[in-house]
Amino acid sequence: MSDLAHTDIQYLSGVGPQRADVLRKELGIATLADLLYYFPYKHIDRSRLYYIHEIDGNMPYIQLRGKILSYETAGAGRKERLIAHFSDGTGIVDLVWFQYGKYIQKRYLIGHEYIVFGKPTVFGGRINIAHPDIDPADNLDISGMGLRPYYNTSERMKRMNLSSGAVEKLVANLFGALKEPIPETLPAYFVEHHHLMPLDEALHSMHFPANAEQLRGAEYRLKFEELFYIQLDILRYARMRQQKSRGLCFTVVGQLFNTFYNEKLPFPLTGAQKRVIREMRADMNSGRQMNRLLQGDVGSGKTLVALMTMLIAIGNGYQACIMAPTEILAEQHYATIRTQLEGLPVRVELLTGSVKGRRRAPILNGLEDGSVHLLIATHAVLEDTVRFAALGLVVVDEQHRFGVAQRAKLWNKNDFLPHVLVMTATPIPRTLAMTLYGDLDVSVIDELPPGRKPVVTEHRYDEQKASLYQFMRQQIAEGRQVYIVYPLIKESEKMDLKNLEEGYRTICEVFPAPDYAVSMVHGRLKPAEKEAEMQHFVRGETQIMVATTVIEVGVNVPNASIMVIQNAERFGLSQLHQLRGRVGRGADQSYCILVTSYKLSNESRKRIDIMTRTSDGFEIAEADLKLRGPGDLEGTQQSGIAFDLHIANLARDGILLQHVRDIAQHILDDDPDENHPENHILWQQLRIRRKSGGVNWSAIS
Ligand code: ADP
Ligand code: MG
Repeated sequence: MSDLAHTDIQYLSGVGPQRADVLRKELGIATLADLLYYFPYKHIDRSRLYYIHEIDGNMPYIQLRGKILSYETAGAGRKERLIAHFSDGTGIVDLVWFQYGKYIQKRYLIGHEYIVFGKPTVFGGRINIAHPDIDPADNLDISGMGLRPYYNTSERMKRMNLSSGAVEKLVANLFGALKEPIPETLPAYFVEHHHLMPLDEALHSMHFPANAEQLRGAEYRLKFEELFYIQLDILRYARMRQQKSRGLCFTVVGQLFNTFYNEKLPFPLTGAQKRVIREMRADMNSGRQMNRLLQGDVGSGKTLVALMTMLIAIGNGYQACIMAPTEILAEQHYATIRTQLEGLPVRVELLTGSVKGRRRAPILNGLEDGSVHLLIATHAVLEDTVRFAALGLVVVDEQHRFGVAQRAKLWNKNDFLPHVLVMTATPIPRTLAMTLYGDLDVSVIDELPPGRKPVVTEHRYDEQKASLYQFMRQQIAEGRQVYIVYPLIKESEKMDLKNLEEGYRTICEVFPAPDYAVSMVHGRLKPAEKEAEMQHFVRGETQIMVATTVIEVGVNVPNASIMVIQNAERFGLSQLHQLRGRVGRGADQSYCILVTSYKLSNESRKRIDIMTRTSDGFEIAEADLKLRGPGDLEGTQQSGIAFDLHIANLARDGILLQHVRDIAQHILDDDPDENHPENHILWQQLRIRRKSGGVNWSAIS
């Protein structure tokens, strides 16, 4: 049994071919090592005895010592059950069996002393324990029982007699059969220096800890190791990439940038914008390819930063491209950027799916001969017919809408790698960013332009529409505009559209022409229609915009001051936050109204509470991570990264992650050629882990 990872589980005593098959199919346990790493989902303290008069129906599992006074049966047919009245002198509980064999009354005798273990519930005014564990009191030494493991099992396993208790026995058999300690997977100096439990002890304690403290120590060691190797892998990859991928050197800031800065800048940059531009300036002049993630809450002014970075590229004789996830957004960027660059010698073009035929050809030619300096595009730019003379910088706006493969396609349009700036308003929590984008540098705009008032967020129920409409009337009378957003869920797009159209009709009735004008935008509209409707709203010709989440990303109408979100319970936190970011862009007080029905799940209620409590995007992202778990987070799914964390938890182990990252960085700096003998085991483990199909970090960015 020396090679745990290669010994088939069927050879463990108590398993055999049939059970091995079930373990493999139901739990993915194929080898002895798999079983060792199949950790219990909880432990229950079996070292303590309760008195019956202490217990109530709200307790977890408990243990009692006493005698069976009598048996009776109750109910009939499928409801028939066997009841034993059990007492320790301080009270009586009913032990209940629903499907019982005759053996019970023979095995557990009236008048003998037993230890009973189970979960108490209250039924018919009495405390019941259904299907308890029962052991004779005289041969059970509970003081040594400590924490008992409970394993997840499936229905199929239970039919094969593979209950949690059976898995427990298998694990015990395995430890019993081990002739020597499980080999360490971290260097000895490392284990000692960081006060970690040795692997052998940690694995044993994960299953059979003597006490809670030992269990915590074991968990810490395994989390530490797991996160450490992930970070070591990412940082090592980042280093290799830095060495390999030489980048374009933009040696000057350039005349263009300077002219813009001195003459065209519509307002002073915020401190954060300045800092971020400086960081990127340094990147692009370092000789290495820039690969930077720019995070900034909605409205923090990322577009301007992107524009100024592109001006540096153009000033150095290269082309720049900004890629937006929707046509609406691309068009808006185009309009803003054209205005801002007016009078400067920069040719700006827009390329979307709707730019066709005679309008398209000159743009494609201009890109190929280098006369187009700055391209604003949707994913239309990814088509093979689009070629650049010298693409020096790619900006990807609202990163989470693009897949990894799509982005890679764009950089392959050159013989050399362009610099890459990925911008996102989805504030990815630090822990997640470090894991997801470990080889990207991260810049953060953590400051909003001055004069912004925080958006006031309120929760209203459907039934309170009248007061909501009244409020909207007031705001519109003051010259403000209103968004009303309906959810869109792919599976029932038709129904959602119906919802939206109904909502539109209602709004048109409540806000009738000619006093009011209402726009509607949704994903089914042709781009031209969508654009026209958007423009009505942007120009202030309509006061109300009824829409689906197509407006979620990027749209900028500073005069809009109310965001009403219908069925807010159907939106995720980051989506709600994005939507709220559409208002609060002007000088006026803005409002976000979350409308829900009375019936709310716990989760939905938590989301609504968080939204009304804070407008800090990072706090919201952290909360989102905690509520949903990392695999579920917007942006991680699309990026195609499977999270395969066994024991660590990105939502809870952020501090540890930072700690192990520093350690990993230190080791890489200290042993860059990976030849220190004491670290041998680290590189070996890294190879093993990579082979066994961990995350493919090279796929990211
Ligand atoms: P986002 O980061 O969400 O993409 P935008 O780039 O759309 O934000 O900027 C939001 C608004 O803030 C725009 O109207 C923009 O003109 C304005 N803005 C950007 N930077 C500043 C600044 N330094 N001072 C004042 N307003 C700014
Ligand atoms: Mg933006």
